[in-house]
Amino acid sequence: MATPTITHHTHQADAPPSAGLSPWSRFLWEAPLLLSIVFTALVVVWAQDNDKLEREALRQSVMADTLSLEAQLAARLETEAVKLRAAATHLPPAGADPDHQLASLPEIAAGLDRRWLSVVWLDANMRVVAEARREQRPGVQSQPQAQGITLHLIAPTSDERRPPNSQAGGQLIARYDPADLIKSKDFWWLAAQYEVQLLSGLGEVIVSTESPGHVARGETYETPFNAVPDARLRLTQRVRQPHWFTTLPVVLMAGFLVLISVATLLLRRQMNQVIRAEAAWRTEAAWRQSLEESALVGLHARDLGGALLFANRTFCEMVGYSVDELVAQGPAFDDLVQTRHDRTSHPTQRAGHETRWRHRDGHMLDVMVFESPLVDGAGQQVGWMGSIVDVTERKRLEELERRQREVLGNHARLSTLGEVASTLAHELNQPLTSIVSYSAGIAKALEKQAGTAPDLLMAAQALSRHASMAGGIVHRIRARLARRELVLEACNINTLVSDAVGLLQRDLNRAGVSVSLSLDDTLPLARIDQIGIEQVVTNLLRNANDAMAQIVPPRALTVRTLLSVTPPMGRAEGWITVTITDIGPGLGGRDIETLTEAFFSTKKEGTGLGLAICRSILESHGGVLHAQDVAGGGACFSFSLPPHTTINEATHHDNGTHDLPMR
Ligand code: ADP
Repeated sequence: MATPTITHHTHQADAPPSAGLSPWSRFLWEAPLLLSIVFTALVVVWAQDNDKLEREALRQSVMADTLSLEAQLAARLETEAVKLRAAATHLPPAGADPDHQLASLPEIAAGLDRRWLSVVWLDANMRVVAEARREQRPGVQSQPQAQGITLHLIAPTSDERRPPNSQAGGQLIARYDPADLIKSKDFWWLAAQYEVQLLSGLGEVIVSTESPGHVARGETYETPFNAVPDARLRLTQRVRQPHWFTTLPVVLMAGFLVLISVATLLLRRQMNQVIRAEAAWRTEAAWRQSLEESALVGLHARDLGGALLFANRTFCEMVGYSVDELVAQGPAFDDLVQTRHDRTSHPTQRAGHETRWRHRDGHMLDVMVFESPLVDGAGQQVGWMGSIVDVTERKRLEELERRQREVLGNHARLSTLGEVASTLAHELNQPLTSIVSYSAGIAKALEKQAGTAPDLLMAAQALSRHASMAGGIVHRIRARLARRELVLEACNINTLVSDAVGLLQRDLNRAGVSVSLSLDDTLPLARIDQIGIEQVVTNLLRNANDAMAQIVPPRALTVRTLLSVTPPMGRAEGWITVTITDIGPGLGGRDIETLTEAFFSTKKEGTGLGLAICRSILESHGGVLHAQDVAGGGACFSFSLPPHTTINEATHHDNGTHDLPMR
């Protein structure tokens, strides 16, 4: 079963949950981008700084390498110069074949084998005495002639060995290739890293380790090359140090920034969608709340288990409970308000059903309940949505209308009956008066006469009593028709009840009804219309007797009088109450309103006026008539007379006439 997604809320709690995103949280989505930019800026600053330091270190290193190379080259040339000077020192006087003589000198031969391209012996007049060349050396591979400029080492020949007639100042000149010097394998570690160049004083490249077209672009340093006059030595890094912005971290950071920007853009789009959806939701919630608040129809939603999820204001007002109170009840919430249990029978169509509910204060209301399935976003049923219309007022008006129609019909019948009653009362008055006086005369005569059978005497007396009662009734009917006032007199209700039972004793005996009387001795006297109330009691006794005719004996009747201490039927204390309880078939759920309707009767020959007249008589005293079924079978009729009819009350207000109820 899907869990209902509706949140219950009262009408107050139905307000939108918050006033929206705070300005800070609205821009929170930009935070990752801003942090990334700051981070990237820091990395750039660091990279620049680092680059500067590295360049400085590199410059130092190039400078150190240049100076070191210059020192080593100078040392090497100095060694060569020393060796040339040594050769010049050991130079023999020029003979017949000075060239051979020169070439065969061991120092010269070693120099040619090593580095010297040629050695020239000049005399003091700068004439060539002899010359030895490298290529003349046996076993020396003839090397390609040195390209470009060659350099010289000069050493003066010794004075002692100078020819006697020659001028002083002869010299040995050794020619060497500076490229050979620079490209020496001894400096391979430098050559791998740098382009090494020897420059003339004018800046021309005398010799370079690179082929002519190649240009090294890296860090460079120049220093004077003291071993050769006016020359300079230059070292240039073969590979240029990459710029800081082309280093891997910076490239990675740039890529990262691009990705973060794209992600932020997507996030922004998503945020906008969420904000739009939220705004739409707020509007909808506000509309829904207004609808719920303004609806005159009660609305409630409950889950499939019956627990309340939501209720609107009208619903709460209908039943007198707050939403929280109803929700706290769980699935049993409708026990509070329902009088019937029909919550399991949910209709599948929108027909609705009628039921009766109880308000918190106890009053009943008739409602129409329309229920339809409550579905969630996925279309799955999660409960029931009910709309409830209070039809109490409508039903009351309908009932009133029905009664009025009935009353109109009854009115016509009553007026006819009134005519008949008037005629009958008029016509019967005279003969009844005669019967009363004759029967009284007979009874008196029989009393005086000795030896009269007691049965006869009793019958005559009963005849006299019944006749005078019949006369009283006819008299009252005439009085009613003439709209005369009630005749109020002090009366003991207990006596009145006993007399009424006595009057019907014979009928009751015949029907096998046992009567039990329970009379309250403390009852005060009452100021009532005695004949009227007696008529009420006999009518109720007669009805009980008639009702019990339908059951098999034994039949029993209980008559009680009491002064209500605990208020009966919600009456205040001090009311005189008479109850007549039988064990007949009961009222079949009919209420007093139905029973006292004029002409309502379930008897074949009933008039349906008895109870109506009783009620009218009682109400003219300010009293009430009540009827209810007795648990276990039977009916209990009771009437109560208000305290102001009791004799110890100083005043009474009842001077009205009583009519048949025209409801
Ligand atoms: P009637 O007696 O002419 O029918 P009433 O007004 O006296 O007229 O009574 C109306 C109806 O009330 C009766 O027809 C009967 O159905 C019902 N009734 C009255 N008293 C009793 C009772 N004690 N037990 C059962 N039903 C009763």
